[in-house]
Order: sequence, then C-alpha cells, then structure tokens
Amino acid sequence: MSIIIKSDREIAVMRQAGRIVATVLELLKGQLRPGMKTKELDVIAVRELEKLGAKSSSKGYHGFPANICISVNDEIVHGIPGERILYEGDIVSLDLVANINGFHGDAAITVGIGEVSPQAKELMETTEGALKVGIAAAYPGARLGDISATIQNYAESRGYSVVREYTGHGIGREMHEEPSIPNFGLPGSGPVLRKGMTLALEPMVNIGDWHTRLGDDRWTVFTADGGLSAHFENTIAITNAGPEVLTTV
Ligand code: MG
Repeated sequence: MSIIIKSDREIAVMRQAGRIVATVLELLKGQLRPGMKTKELDVIAVRELEKLGAKSSSKGYHGFPANICISVNDEIVHGIPGERILYEGDIVSLDLVANINGFHGDAAITVGIGEVSPQAKELMETTEGALKVGIAAAYPGARLGDISATIQNYAESRGYSVVREYTGHGIGREMHEEPSIPNFGLPGSGPVLRKGMTLALEPMVNIGDWHTRLGDDRWTVFTADGGLSAHFENTIAITNAGPEVLTTV
C-alpha cells in the first residue's frame, strides 16, 4: 500500500464530503442537552446525512453498529451510541465519517454538556490546539513526522499525554488509507508531504496516562487509568499553498 495522491477534481468531491460532515457535527453540537440519550444523536446524524445526500461510513464498518461514534468522558474513541444519558459536566466526543460520490470526509469534536470543570475545559482546548498546530505543520516538502511531533509536543508540554495505540490516517475513496499518522513521533521522519495528499489528523489527548483499554463491547476505547480524554479531528488536503481543511462548513 502506498499514499494515494488525489487530483484537484477528486479533492473537490472530498471538499463536498467534508462540508457535509462539518455541517452535521455543528448541528449535533447545537442539539446536545443534559438528559439526552446518545442514541438520539445517532438518529439526528443519519437523518441529516440523508437530507444532504451522504451516507455514514462507519455504519457496518467491520460490523460497527451505528452511524456516528460517541465517546463520553474516559471513553477515547469508537463509543457506540445507545441508552447512555448525558449529564451536565460530561465531555462528549462526536466522530463522524460520511461519504458522497465515492469519497469520505472524517471529523471529530469534543463538546462539554453545560458547565464543565476547568480541567475538562483545558483538556478540550489543548486537544483542539494540538489539531490546529498539527494542521499548520502539513506543508508540501515537510515530513509526516513533523505533524506527529508538533501534536505531541503541544500536548505534552502542557502536561497531557497523547494516545499511541490509535492514529490519524490517509483518507479518500477509502475511509482509512495510507499513511497512518501517529500523534507522536520525530520531526524530519516519515514520508515527505506532497500536494494532493488527503489526511485525517486526529489527536486523542488524555489528562492522565496514554494507555488504553478496550471495552466489553469490543469497540469502545477507554483510558486505562479512567482519566478524561478528548478528540478533535479534521480531514485536510495538502495544497501548494499549504494545508486546506476540508471538513469545514
Ligand atoms: Mg479518523
């Protein structure tokens, strides 16, 4: 497997997929309320995707049973929406992948329910900041490891850890393409970034240790130490002018 370079025309379709993903995430964010069940968000997600002519890419992926991943508090990624009730103070990661016209877009946000603790707020801000600086490192001619190292340094210098067992990834006609993009690594290492690469960058940042634990449902990934975790993700394209975020409204 190698990294697939996309044409401008293919990136235009991915821009469309990305806009839909970002639009639905914004809408879900506006719907979050204490007392709501996570499965209600799944229902809204599938309805809105349908309205926009797109399909969830996660539903049925290796048997994943839902249209969106919802991971609460110490859940890092791949949480399955269900009967769980959201409470004031929870932090909720919404990770949505959708496809249209054969191409995928992938993005995630972590949102607080009502008033959250200062620690939770700072964790979310740090994770979003790590994504931003990671994106800013994605220039043609730079190396993949520059992105990884930038994300790691940003999070670790603020006292957090980055999850190591799950990574970002290339994306395009497949939801997961080469390369895998760890949120830790060495600057100057890895493949050279080129125009036409389309990448999903997704720092997963923990308050405590970086180790993870797989839940009994064999999907939900938890922090091993039970500490809070946040997750932000965007799909980007590398252009000659630098990174372009595709998952934006
Ligand atoms: Mg992803």
